[in-house]
Amino acid sequence: MGGKQVTSPHYSATADSLVGEAVRVGVLGFGGLGQAAARVLTPKHEMILVAAADQKGYAYEATGLNPDSCISTYRSQGSLGYLEPTGTLSNQSIQDLIGQAAVDGYFLALPNLPNTFMASVVKQFIQAGWQGVLVDALKRTSAVEQLLTLKDQLSAAGITYMTGCGATPGLLTAAAALAAQSYAEIHSVKITFGVGIANWEAYRATIREDIAHLPGYDVERARAMSDAEIEDLLDQTNGILSLENMEHADDVMLELAGICSRDRVTVGGVVDTRNPKKPLSTNVQVTGRTFEGKISTHTFTLGDETSMAANVCGPAFGYLKAGVSLHQRGIYGLFTAAEVMPHFVK
Ligand code: NAD
Repeated sequence: MGGKQVTSPHYSATADSLVGEAVRVGVLGFGGLGQAAARVLTPKHEMILVAAADQKGYAYEATGLNPDSCISTYRSQGSLGYLEPTGTLSNQSIQDLIGQAAVDGYFLALPNLPNTFMASVVKQFIQAGWQGVLVDALKRTSAVEQLLTLKDQLSAAGITYMTGCGATPGLLTAAAALAAQSYAEIHSVKITFGVGIANWEAYRATIREDIAHLPGYDVERARAMSDAEIEDLLDQTNGILSLENMEHADDVMLELAGICSRDRVTVGGVVDTRNPKKPLSTNVQVTGRTFEGKISTHTFTLGDETSMAANVCGPAFGYLKAGVSLHQRGIYGLFTAAEVMPHFVK
């Protein structure tokens, strides 16, 4: 079967007044973020989790998956493919799911290893003739730039693609775009994140991709590292990764949104892989000059109690809802978190 025909729920003109059935959501990648995404959706009535996939299998249930069963099966058996009765083992789980599941929008919680992986997944959606909304939480500038080259193909395919819709890029980039409005000229956007997780195994791809930003490392080197090598590295740093001047797509997204040139955007942070407490408060500082000639800085700081998972998955679904609203109006193509406001999912 070559993709699904869209039978999307019905919306009134205002995106917030959902009058039809819930948006049917799929989550691709069921690691740290994918599992958190399933839990984020549990209390929502505007969205329903119907599909999820990992590297070895997938589960699809048109009336809704039970997130707890999905998580416990994945953790105990290593794949959603073992979920009874809706799981299927597969080495091409994404392709199989695209072909048979009726899904309005997917959150792509996949590792971007190699750095071209997400773009290759997007091409699979296009080739399958699938139509709907896709949302990613990509991090690297070069990864988002690959998607930019697919913009026209996404438009022609009838896909509304929201990129860079996690925390950074994502929530903080959008906050920067909003803060910029006070100024006549933007001098700098400085994003500093603090992440605390109890153990690195809960977010393997996130940690591998962060290691790729350390001096002397790149994506291929980090990808090739064994788990034991990652543990050795983390032992040497007492579990802390300090990251500076990262290649983060907040820069290209703010440039595309017309806020400032990319060289004015810097991203860095500290990740503690052995302690769920944040090593520092995540914030974005936007410095600029007002029309009166005053130089000032707006600072937006995330609450320390909010986890990385909350700050990635919440925005991702907010942008998915915004994407559904665009899709309903026949607006397809590629959008970033800095040019569209996320909607709030109830
Ligand atoms: P993870 O390593 O915990 O889980 C990855 C999941 O993807 C696993 O379930 C794995 O089985 C699945 N997978 C891998 N290859 C697959 C394939 N070919 N087909 C289907 N499934 C496949 O990953 P994570 O730590 O949750 O991170 C996911 C992504 O989110 C990473 O790319 C990370 O950089 C990104 N991220 C973004 C932000 C942000 O703020 N923008 C923050 C954190 C993480």
